[in-house]
Amino acid sequence: MAEAGGFARSDPTRDRPNLQFHFLPALIHDHGRRTAWGYGLTLHVCDLYPQSRGTIRLASPDPAAPPSIRANYLSHPDDLPVLLKGLDLARQITRAPALARHIRHETLPGPAQDLTADIRQRAETIYHPVGTCRMGLDDRAPADPQGRIRGTTGLRVVDASLMPRIIGGNTNAPTMMIAETIARRMLA
Ligand SMILES: Cc1cc2nc3c(=O)[nH]c(=O)nc-3n(C[C@H](O)[C@H](O)[C@H](O)COP(=O)(O)OP(=O)(O)OC[C@H]3O[C@@H](n4cnc5c(N)ncnc54)[C@H](O)[C@@H]3O)c2cc1C
Repeated sequence: MAEAGGFARSDPTRDRPNLQFHFLPALIHDHGRRTAWGYGLTLHVCDLYPQSRGTIRLASPDPAAPPSIRANYLSHPDDLPVLLKGLDLARQITRAPALARHIRHETLPGPAQDLTADIRQRAETIYHPVGTCRMGLDDRAPADPQGRIRGTTGLRVVDASLMPRIIGGNTNAPTMMIAETIARRMLA
């Protein structure tokens, strides 16, 4: 239900936007899993280029067993300041006259909250994981730019995991572009 979005720089010296806003015309808690009663709006802030790195590993030799995923959010010291700046910008947007007249009060994080603690407690994913099987020309890249897995024959990975690093926005269309490009080359 994201009706509007926007991109911004956390610092004007950056050469490109590194923050994305998702605006929702409803109160949302915990990905919508918990009911939030009443009227309201939600403005999410996303750090587009987080420096923190997580892991995804096999948890068992059984291929049907779920993998072990460790997101490791906010483990890099550069990430928290970007989100703090993003929150600051989100508040500037919601406090601007055009929107402020629709808002009685801020429920989350709320005026008295410690913003660092709040981010550490509530920050979560916007569902764009990539790069667990990145393509590249170096020896450490599991896949080459055609998605072929090194050391194997007849095996390709062609999905969001192929992206060498996170892109600066939503991942669905770029994943389809990667798939179409590689499919076209295979057919050729
Ligand atoms: C809730 C949510 C909201 C999102 N919203 C957006 C958005 O608004 N805009 C946007 O750009 N992106 C959005 N994304 C991200 C986007 O959906 C993903 O980046 C994209 O789908 C990744 O494509 P993929 O092919 O890598 O993986 P997937 O789309 O996840 O495809 C993987 C496929 O493999 C299948 N599969 C898994 N295991 C097996 C197996 N063992 N055998 C056979 N098949 C298997 C799965 O069923 C699935 O069909 C969202 C993601 C989520 C979860």
